Amino acid sequence: CVVCLGELLIDFVPEENGLALSEVSSFRKAAGGAPANVAAAVAKLGGKSRFIGKIGRDPFGTFLKQTLEEVGVETAVIESDEAKTGLAFVSLRKDGERDFLFFRDPAADMLLRADEIEAAWLSDAAIFHFGSVSLISEPCRSATLEAARQARALGALVSYDPNVRLALWPSADAARQEILQQLPLADVVKVSEEEVDFLLGTDPTTGAQQLLEHGPKVVIITLGAQGCRVVTARQDTVVRGRPAEAVDTTGAGDGFVGGMLFQLASLGVTPATIADALSEAGATERVFAFANRVGAITTTRRGAIPALPTFAEAMEE
Ligand code: ADP
Repeated sequence: CVVCLGELLIDFVPEENGLALSEVSSFRKAAGGAPANVAAAVAKLGGKSRFIGKIGRDPFGTFLKQTLEEVGVETAVIESDEAKTGLAFVSLRKDGERDFLFFRDPAADMLLRADEIEAAWLSDAAIFHFGSVSLISEPCRSATLEAARQARALGALVSYDPNVRLALWPSADAARQEILQQLPLADVVKVSEEEVDFLLGTDPTTGAQQLLEHGPKVVIITLGAQGCRVVTARQDTVVRGRPAEAVDTTGAGDGFVGGMLFQLASLGVTPATIADALSEAGATERVFAFANRVGAITTTRRGAIPALPTFAEAMEE
């Protein structure tokens, strides 16, 4: 099972793009939260996935749980009595920048506690996946780290997508420090070129080597439409992207990670075998060309979860 843990919130997105938040007159609600999108991507491809997180006891929480269950994710979702489901208003402005306004002070997902995570939710994890948004504040930070440590101790492959969302952190330095500090927990780390620059202040080649030195066995650098670059101690390979008519890139990175984890789960790799397994003829291409296809298809449709492809769609030419 691919077990994902972290933030789960409602994104309110404008009916049309190209406006500042203050100019938007109508928003559509969509399920949001990167780890939830990854769990949805795996399930839509036909893999087994579980999402661990916390929602408010409110209609938006119900909507999020239903959205995940409809695509086949097993939800290990706790209902909070202390806070409501988190909300984010998001708009893609004309200049290409995103405007964000968050209502999360605090949101239910940030209140997940380590003692609420049942052992059974982690015991069958072949892969455990987390991000950095749930590391921003306690108690969710400790819950995330504790779950990652437990999954690791049980032999699961640990996947980490820092997915930097600076607007949510108290400062850029706090984000950088915390994200780098947790690298040793991970076997597989996915970052973009911009994130390598932000985290390490280096070019991607130097950055990938530095990231490997922190402990991960595989570093993946996403390159947008160009595809991705896969770096291990034995290889540095660019896997070219699938061309796509992008209409909305929301969820592309999460779709990519979902596609990658679906493939890694079907290869049955472990922390001890992953670097060797990817060195076998065609293995890197097989895993990451598939991940690129899932990411690319996700950009051709609006939204995140509704845009994710099925296995058949991901295999189509
Ligand atoms: P993020 O910044 O969210 O990590 P990227 O924008 O780099 O993600 O996209 C993740 C993956 O999705 C890429 O590695 C690629 O496989 C695919 N992808 C993204 N944008 C496009 C695009 N315009 N055309 C084709 N594939 C894309």
